[in-house]
Amino acid sequence: MDPRAGLPADNPFAAPSDLPFGLPPFDRVRTGHFAPAFDAGMAAHRAELDELLAAELPAAAFLDALESSGRLLARAEAVFWNLTGTDADDALRAVQEEYAPELAAHHDAVRLDPRVVARVRALHEDPPADLDAEARRLLERLHSDAARSGALLDEAGARRLRELNAELSALTTRFDVELLADTNDLAVHFERAEELEGLAPADLARAAEAARARGRDGYVIALVLPTGQPVLEALRRRTSRERVHRASIARGGRGGEHDTRALLQRIAALRAERARLLGFADHASWVVADETAGDVEAVVGMLRRLAPAAVANARSEEAELTELLVTDGEAPPLRAWDWSYCAGRLLRERFAVDTEALRPWFELERVLVDGVFATASALYGLSFTERADLPVYADGVRVFEVAGPGGPFGLYLFDPYARESKRGGAWMSSFSDRSGLLGTAPVVVNCLNVARPAPGEATLLTVDEVETLFHEFGHTLHGLLSDVHYPRFSGTNVPRDFVEFPSQVNEFWGFEPEVLQRYARHHVTGEPLPDGAAQGLRAARAHGQGFATLEYLAAALLDLAWHRLPAGALDGARPEDVERFEAEALAEAGVALEAVPPRYRSTYFHHVFGGGYAAAYYSYVWSEVLDADAVEWFAENGGLRRENGEHFRRTLLSRGGSVDPLQAYRDFRGRDAAIEPLLRRRGLQGAGA
Ligand SMILES: [Zn+2]
Repeated sequence: MDPRAGLPADNPFAAPSDLPFGLPPFDRVRTGHFAPAFDAGMAAHRAELDELLAAELPAAAFLDALESSGRLLARAEAVFWNLTGTDADDALRAVQEEYAPELAAHHDAVRLDPRVVARVRALHEDPPADLDAEARRLLERLHSDAARSGALLDEAGARRLRELNAELSALTTRFDVELLADTNDLAVHFERAEELEGLAPADLARAAEAARARGRDGYVIALVLPTGQPVLEALRRRTSRERVHRASIARGGRGGEHDTRALLQRIAALRAERARLLGFADHASWVVADETAGDVEAVVGMLRRLAPAAVANARSEEAELTELLVTDGEAPPLRAWDWSYCAGRLLRERFAVDTEALRPWFELERVLVDGVFATASALYGLSFTERADLPVYADGVRVFEVAGPGGPFGLYLFDPYARESKRGGAWMSSFSDRSGLLGTAPVVVNCLNVARPAPGEATLLTVDEVETLFHEFGHTLHGLLSDVHYPRFSGTNVPRDFVEFPSQVNEFWGFEPEVLQRYARHHVTGEPLPDGAAQGLRAARAHGQGFATLEYLAAALLDLAWHRLPAGALDGARPEDVERFEAEALAEAGVALEAVPPRYRSTYFHHVFGGGYAAAYYSYVWSEVLDADAVEWFAENGGLRRENGEHFRRTLLSRGGSVDPLQAYRDFRGRDAAIEPLLRRRGLQGAGA
């Protein structure tokens, strides 16, 4: 049977694209093409799997066939999942709703197919001598995936695992629902505008609008997810600040229908049981085993080495801010709700940084061409040629052909502007990954959400947007410069605690004097940044890092404390125990400071009890340690030089997930990452080692 029977030849996914580098034929893709391509793609994938299993291939050929299977489905999905984020309408969302569960189930069924698992298990136990290193690593990953998802359990174990997964999925969803409800209920109501003195007129208008939407007079301040609420920086009245802060930290922990304490205890208990079932000491061990960190002790050790320096700096910031508070005629001590208000004032007074006023120096085209592209050219020898002749998926998207020393090798799509059909935020994604096995080229996209200027006007970026563009382009370089055999190891397909490392390294270049000098030119006069502005920018970025580091570390350590509990540890726990557990965990880790509460407290820690970051909230700083250490390597070796870029490309960027990432790091650096560069970057005193 031809599994593609039923997919008409005019369906653009029926055959590989014949456009340069396999760019999808966006001009021919219609929403109606996805459903038939998914149906035919899943059928074809199953048929290919049957065929390759029946063929009794030798190990290397088996792995190649397995990794090459399902191309039709992969072509359709790559376009589909990109469009759901960048250009979705109701029709596309309807397809998503219909097919997302089916596609997820299909991929699970392929991955956990008992015949595949049995073959992988046999090969893993007795790997043939002729397998190369990348194939061995693939075998390792496939085996670990199977073990981690329970495919090696006996029948009773598998049944219990299904029950645990089902209950956990329901509980984590419910955690988010209750948290959202409590967050809405706790929005803070103010009767009079005077109480909100200091708020910008636009924010005050928004607060009045929020009150109207709730059928109330006056003003309503809605809460955002973390402990720190943005309005606290502006509110002059201390009593108003206190009300907002208290509402923020009350979320999920004040009894009543939206209390999340029993829920999160149950989630932690079930995760511990699941980890034991799968052969791990606790949930954190199960999570971290799959990351570059490898074991929980390494993670905790790193966080604890950072803690003393963060605490010391937070204390000296506290002293400085207390002075400011007293000058204002307020009584010490400085409270948690005073912190960002005083810090904001200090920043404006000391550094006189008005980032808004710098926008004329950050014109989008200059930032992209003279900043981002020029840096990639200096480091990696890349050049970018716009291809206006190629089709794109939405108005305003641009395509660049990317060439290296060996000639053109891929495409870069740039999608900078916000539009209604695009989700918020900024990200890198790919339409095609570079793979030796498949012979495919990288087709990578960066999406931002910059406001589109009026016709004929220049697009002027904020400092944050400039940083974001350099950051996302760092992911792009990881994708473009990938040089691996199996697609699953290509580029950014690396563990979560490693993936932000290359992007953060690239972010650094954006504010280096020699790079800044080149692209930060006034968009009308062409003049460079005013004297002192560049230094002020850098100084402002290092300011307040004691607080920022400490509130983050407290949350990361709290996350690990919950997920290092062994199965049974929470038997008989009562909701009231949550506060005590939290206080003890923070005190024990040496990060309990009255005025610096954790970035998230347990009862509203969406990332770990609702989202997918359980026992992984540490990963942001883990990759930043690597990033800061790598950036120092560049500085020690003369900075922006082609040889340096080539070394980074060869040892690290090109290898994706095909080698142990920490080994790749050692190959790059000549040793393991040191923590001191991060301490220096964040201006944290004391090595803390
Ligand atoms: Zn990123």
